[in-house]
Amino acid sequence: LRNDQLDQWDRDNFFHPSTHLAQHARGESPSRVIKTASGVHIEDRDGNRLLDAFAGLYCVNVGYGRTEIADAIAAQAHELAYYHSYVGHGTEASITLSKMILDRAPSHMSKVYFGLGGSDANETNVKLVWYFNNILGRPQKKKIISRWRGYHGSGIVTGSLTGLELFHKKFDLPVEQVIHTTAPYYYRRENLDQTEAQFVDQCVADLEALIDREGADTIAAFIGEPMLGTGGIVPPPAGYWAAIQEVLQKHDILLIADEVVTGFGRLGTMFGSEHYGITPDIITIAKGLTSAYAPLSGSIVSDKVWAVLERGTDENGPIGHGWTYSAHPIGAAAGVANLQLLDDLNLISNAGEVGAYLNGALRDALADHPHVGEVRGEGMICAVEFVKDKDNRVFFDPADKIGAQISGKLLEQDKIIARAMPQGDILGFAPPFCLSRAEADQVVEGTLRAVKTVLG
Ligand code: PLP
Repeated sequence: LRNDQLDQWDRDNFFHPSTHLAQHARGESPSRVIKTASGVHIEDRDGNRLLDAFAGLYCVNVGYGRTEIADAIAAQAHELAYYHSYVGHGTEASITLSKMILDRAPSHMSKVYFGLGGSDANETNVKLVWYFNNILGRPQKKKIISRWRGYHGSGIVTGSLTGLELFHKKFDLPVEQVIHTTAPYYYRRENLDQTEAQFVDQCVADLEALIDREGADTIAAFIGEPMLGTGGIVPPPAGYWAAIQEVLQKHDILLIADEVVTGFGRLGTMFGSEHYGITPDIITIAKGLTSAYAPLSGSIVSDKVWAVLERGTDENGPIGHGWTYSAHPIGAAAGVANLQLLDDLNLISNAGEVGAYLNGALRDALADHPHVGEVRGEGMICAVEFVKDKDNRVFFDPADKIGAQISGKLLEQDKIIARAMPQGDILGFAPPFCLSRAEADQVVEGTLRAVKTVLG
């Protein structure tokens, strides 16, 4: 197809997510047609080779063009493209994958329920904790606490859990069962005099106050990403998770660790829960489960949750929850090949090592820049936050779109993709785990150049 033909069809027919629709329809934002990819590079239809330092949407963890996964998908499609997983049905791929996931998950986890993407997995999680409390005879214990700046999806409930205004505005969200608490975001704390430890105390006090106000007997669960992702790529302050978990245990509130980004190695450990000493009741997985070679997600439930779910079905019959594509064989085959590849190529330790190198190099290059407020990260994920006045911590007006300007320059000048995060002036990096040190250097040099072009 000719480019102009494709552009026309795109504008006339394709409803893109997270896109300024009017600008796109008027042809003011170009169609970006990606044709092929290999390793950490993608190539567009004009032959431009771009270094993807965000691994798609931080999901292509093993890198692009892995023939092992493509072959596994093709073999599964030839043998059995689809069968459902209702009433005890399964495939060799889905059963094998469930075993591989549980072998890698914390030892108190019991079973995995398969979905398609992170949003539907979190939707499942909310239903599971509601079911859990109904079976336990406490139907009023249903609210879910999430954090401002958390990201958990964009459905009705999951968009409510997401603590970013953009996902609520004009959708009448959040729904009333979802309540939000303070983001563990030390750099953006309100009281600049607070030490990190005092700020953790503040997060705990805010959570306690919310629980007191609402009543612990109305609160079912707390959901959080081990490390805030879409809300700004923010590692939690030291001691945060231990302190939060103490409060949750005291009030008998379940903990859902949303590991859609952190699961399967992004922080240099198999799970982010492991990294931060979190003991969740449910873990959400998606992206890195298949490295996005096919859509697949999961809700891993603990022994404690599972025991109640089992009891529920003894009392009420089969659980009334399922998707046509739960445990889709092609997704499952991709997952098996992907987890195997992570092991065979030692990619998680590479994520830890090269990630630390990238983080350190970004810090060395940028931390002293007068408009860089913070360089932060963990494993193969990091961010640079820009400020207008560093000494007085005055932020840029979001309307200036500093993050987007810098990511635009980085793309234009060095053909490198980093992501301007949706809130604030933050540039995010989450490359595939196979990134080399030389490629990390390229990312850092390009970023420095882009920052100097935009901010001097
Ligand atoms: N949870 C987290 C932590 C995520 O980062 C995302 C997506 O970025 C989701 C859930 C939603 O996943 P999906 O876009 O696959 O529905």
